[in-house]
Formats: sequence, C-alpha cells, structure tokens
Amino acid sequence: MRWICVFFSIVIISISSTAQENSLSNKGEPPVGAPQWMKSSNTRLETELIAEYGEVQRMRLQRGLAQVGQFWRDDDGDASTYEDFVRTSFAGDQATLDSMFTRYEQLLEQLDGHMHEINREFRQQMDLDLGPALPFDEAFGGYDPSAHVIDDFFKNKLAFTAVLNFPLTTLDQRLKEGPNWTRRQWAEVRLAQRFDKRVPADVNLGIAQAEAAAGQYVAEYNIWMYHLVDEKGQRLFPAKMRLLSHWNLRDEIKADYADKDNGLAKQRTIRQVMERIVTQTIPQIAVNNPAVDWNPFTNQVKPAAASDSDTPPARNVTNTAEPNTRYAMFLKTFQASKRADPYSPMAPTHIARRFDEDREIPEARVKQMLEQVLTSPLVGQTAKLIESRLGRPLEPFDIWYNGFRPGSKYSEAELDQMVAKKYPTPEAYQKDIPNLLMKMGFSPDRAQHVASNIVVDPARGSGHAMGAEMRAEKAHLRTRVEKTGMNYKGFNIAVHEMGHNVEQTFSLNDVDHTLLKGVPNTAFTEALAFVFQGHDLELLGLPAPDEKSLAEKTLSDFWATFEIAGVALVDTAAWHWAYDHPNATPAEMRDAVVHISKDVWNRYYAPVFHKQDVVLLGVYSHMIDSFLYLPDYPIGHLIAFQIEEQMKKAGNIGPEFERMAKMGQVTPDLWMIHATGRPVGPEALLEATDIALKQVRQ
Ligand SMILES: [Zn+2]
Repeated sequence: MRWICVFFSIVIISISSTAQENSLSNKGEPPVGAPQWMKSSNTRLETELIAEYGEVQRMRLQRGLAQVGQFWRDDDGDASTYEDFVRTSFAGDQATLDSMFTRYEQLLEQLDGHMHEINREFRQQMDLDLGPALPFDEAFGGYDPSAHVIDDFFKNKLAFTAVLNFPLTTLDQRLKEGPNWTRRQWAEVRLAQRFDKRVPADVNLGIAQAEAAAGQYVAEYNIWMYHLVDEKGQRLFPAKMRLLSHWNLRDEIKADYADKDNGLAKQRTIRQVMERIVTQTIPQIAVNNPAVDWNPFTNQVKPAAASDSDTPPARNVTNTAEPNTRYAMFLKTFQASKRADPYSPMAPTHIARRFDEDREIPEARVKQMLEQVLTSPLVGQTAKLIESRLGRPLEPFDIWYNGFRPGSKYSEAELDQMVAKKYPTPEAYQKDIPNLLMKMGFSPDRAQHVASNIVVDPARGSGHAMGAEMRAEKAHLRTRVEKTGMNYKGFNIAVHEMGHNVEQTFSLNDVDHTLLKGVPNTAFTEALAFVFQGHDLELLGLPAPDEKSLAEKTLSDFWATFEIAGVALVDTAAWHWAYDHPNATPAEMRDAVVHISKDVWNRYYAPVFHKQDVVLLGVYSHMIDSFLYLPDYPIGHLIAFQIEEQMKKAGNIGPEFERMAKMGQVTPDLWMIHATGRPVGPEALLEATDIALKQVRQ
C-alpha cells in the first residue's frame, strides 16, 4: 500500500531489493546452510536440463539453481521433491519464460491491488471523517492481510519459481548494468527482488516488538517545561507545557526566536536538557514528571515547589541518572534487526538493507553527498547572514534557526476566505481537479485522464494521499473540509496530496510494466508533491511568490539540510559502531554515540559555531526507534531541489511531470538522469542556495 503524507509513508507489501556481492557460486556449488544433497542434485539437473534445452540455457540454469539454493530448507522437501520442482518449474525456452513473466506481472498486480483494497476498506473508519471509531475499528485498521504473503509464496513454491527463472541482483549490478537493461529486464529484476529474502516469522516479530518498545519509550519521553528552574528558582516556561523529545523541544527552540525577552534563555535551557538526554545525565525522576523541579545546568532536582498538574510533589527525590534506557532501546532495535541478516543473502546487514535496498544509493555516495553540503563554503556565508539577522554570534541550537521566511501578500484569514468560498465541500474540490491540473500545464485530455483516477474523501486527520496498487483501482485524496468550507491550510495540504495522486496515477496506470510501478523511494514522490504545493497560490488565481520569497525558502531548506545531514551521519555511524561491537552494553553504546556526535560536530559545525564537543546531533528520537531512517531526510531535500530546478527549466510542469513519473521504480540515479540529465546529488541545492544568498543580500 502506498499511503503518503508529508514525509510519511507505509509500504505494506514489501517490494524489497538487494545488495552485497552475490555470494552465489555460478558453478553449481550450493551455499552454506543448503541441504547436503543439493550438490549432487544440481549436477544431475544440469546435465539433464541442458540436454533438453540446449547449451544456451546453461548460465541461466546455474544462476537459478544457485539462487534457489539460497532459500531452500530441509522442510521445503527432500532431493526428489527439489529435483521435480526444478524440472517442472525451469522455463527452458523463451516462449515459456515470456508466459511466466507476463502471468507473474498480471497476478502480482492483482495481489498487491486487492490486498491494498482490503487494507484501505478496513482503515476507512480510522482514516475518514465518518463519525466515531469503535475499538474494533482499530483492529480492522491494524490488520495487514499481506503479512504472510512472502511466507506463503515460499511454501507454495511460487517464490522459488521466480528465483529459479529471474535474476537476483546486487545494488552494484543494478548501478553498473542497469542503465543498459531493457524495461523488461528491469521488470524481471524487480520481480525477483520481491523474493530476495526469507526472514522467519519469529525474527520479523522480534523486529516489530523492538520497534514497538522503542516507539513507546520515545512517545512517553516528555519534559515538563514549567518545572525547569534556574539557580534562583525562576521558571521560564508556562505552566502545563509538556514537550516531547526531540520534536517538541526542537520546535520550541524555533518558536523562541520570536520571544524577545526570554527567548535566548529558553533556548539555552532546552539545549542543556537535550544534551543531558544524549549523555543520559538527565535525572530519571525528571523524565515525564511534573512532581519535581529540575535545574538542567546544575542537575539539581527538588520536589516541585509549584504545581501545574494533579501529581503531588515527589518525595525521596534524588538525581540518579536515567540508566541509559535510551541506548538500551537502540540496542534492542539493532539486535532484532541483526537477527534477519542470515536470511537476507543479497543485503546481509541492516545497514546494507537500508542503503542498498530501501534507498538504492550506496552508503559511500550518500556520505559523500552529505559531506559536500556540510563542507560547502555556502554554510559559512549562510551562518554569517543568520548572525547578522540575530545580532549575536551563533550558538549551537541555532542549527534550528527558523528566521528564513517567505513573505506573503495575503493574510491567512484572507486566504481562508477565498478557499472556503471556492471549496465549501470535498465534492467541490473533486469537481475542480481537471481545472487545477490544466492550470498546472496538463492538456485537457491528460487532466481528464488523471482526474478520473482520483477520488476525494473527507479525512479524519489533516490529510493524506493513498495511491492504488492495481489499475482497476483509483488513487484516494484524503482532505479536511470544515463545516464552514475548506481553509487555506487544508487547501495547501490537498494540493500537496493531489501531487502524490498525480504521480501515483502516472506511475501505475501509464508505466509500461506494473512490476515497475511507483517511484524509486519516498523522497521522489514527496519531491513531486512539493512541486504541486509550491504552486498553490497560482491555483487560487493569485500571483506566484516573488523571487525574494522563494530565496528565503531556499535558504530555509539549505539550513535544514545542513542540520539534518550531520544528524544522518551520526545515525549511520552509530549503526556501524553497533555492528562492530555487537555485544556492547547500553553504557558503551552511550559513550559511542556521545563520541560520534562530538566528532561530527567538531568536523563540520564547530568551524561556523566556534564551539567544540557539542552533542546536540545525537538528540533525534528517530535514532532510537526508526532503524536508520534519518539519512532519508537530507537526501529528500537534495532530490526535491533537483526536481524543482528541472521543472523551472522545462517551464511547462504538466508534460514534464508525466515524463518523470512514468519512469517507474528504477534506481534513484537512473530515474534522476532520465528526469534531469544528472544523477542524484547536491548540486541543484547548492546552486540554488548560492543564487538565493545573492538575492536576499540585495
Ligand atoms: Zn507528502
């Protein structure tokens, strides 16, 4: 299923991929762990099947046998079952192979499509504004009908048939050879990739449990801000303010720029809190507890001298530190993921699965791109501009500076009024989609085609886009419409989600192979959705934002990329350290993350912040519960800029959007070369930032 909000997607049917030098021998040598009899069976099968189909099939057959050997276990059958399976399932001539390919493509589309359809229907009450959800609705919504598909396909041998006949590939192969593959070859590669790992159910369950435990730890990690006190016992923050680490804490730092009296003191206090979380010197009793007052500078805790909750002041207060729970949680996610390694021959570490499969950009290249941003001279120039706007030297928390703001000619209230008049109901928006698409440069025909594939639903939350997984289904645009009509924020989100729907329609209904449906990864569909969102004023018939306003937005994105690039490097290095020290204790993991955070800071941030050994880069909660997800953010910024710049160059968004989206799910580099002429990289962002700096200085 593809359910996409802003930087949020869930993929239920795992369309997985590959990595690492394929350890399969091409000489019929069964892999370690394969049943003993396999070698002699393979020799027999090779002689027999080559006699039947000819020498020309030898390479394919050897490859297929080696691939099947990666996954065949004793309980899949004995030697004679295996040999019968290979004899009957090897497509030894082109006509049979073509039929097999076509059937798999058609039927997997049906499987994905209907599983997704069940899922969408089951979630309806949770996702849409249809009145109260009852407890059982939540269970329906949480049910995943496709959870056992991969297991089933190995059991009924459909997965084995696929890997017997179609090639498993490494990322290296896809990058080097992929540009010369035909579309059919790409589709075959994606077909085989669905079955490139066979992780036992208990291992998957362990991963889900570790994720749930870490998620719960993160979700309950609040700081009661009213109870942060300075040495005089003064309180900077209002009563009842309870901020979740790290998101709310970071957003409060951003909001505090507007507080001319206490903003700086508040920001310094939050920085101190964050550092105590990273170093785990935070008193355990100060976590999510309004019953104590805490001075994060001296680290003293006392029973709360003022109350803003029902909780009575604590007794027996000590400042015993949190016992490295943060890192114990991280280690649990690491250990659970590591258990999947032996079952994933093409990407045998979680790090490889993230970079080589989910992102399909090698880790070394990601690192290089991020370093290119971090060491750019534009960082120093932007830092100087921020200092001049702040009127003081930078402090470490200014990595979250949010003063780059596009100006607007219209107030939010004015925009609300315009939007409410235009779109009193979801139906009004639905009716206007062809018109909106024509304003984006689509021909009347193409606009009609896309619009006929989008259904608008009233969202319970702020909105999301849910694409279809088969051509007979439609993409769903979930948007929020108040009783008084749609407001501007809702419209802005609806336009973003509509961008997803348009991408989803082209990349499913108009791609040449449904096995290639979609885009390389989430960053691509987000980038395409942002293209739509960036034109929302024009869609209302208002003038586009002016150059200066766009320059402010570019600088805001650049600074955010600079910040999150370092966080991504810390996340990646932490996972490597864990793999190098698989038996580490939580305290050792803490020391490693503290060391890594300082190291990345000293290398890339200290030169502009003039302060050493800051650990703020280690505060992101994703690091604890999101399994090496953080590098997606900076990569997303780079991709968004590349696509936006290309749209500007092309001028006419509609046809360009369609051309890009129809490429489907090839590697990010191949997609980007097709779209813009260059592989994924930071150049577009850096070039735009350079121009933006000149524009705002004028
Ligand atoms: Zn989105």
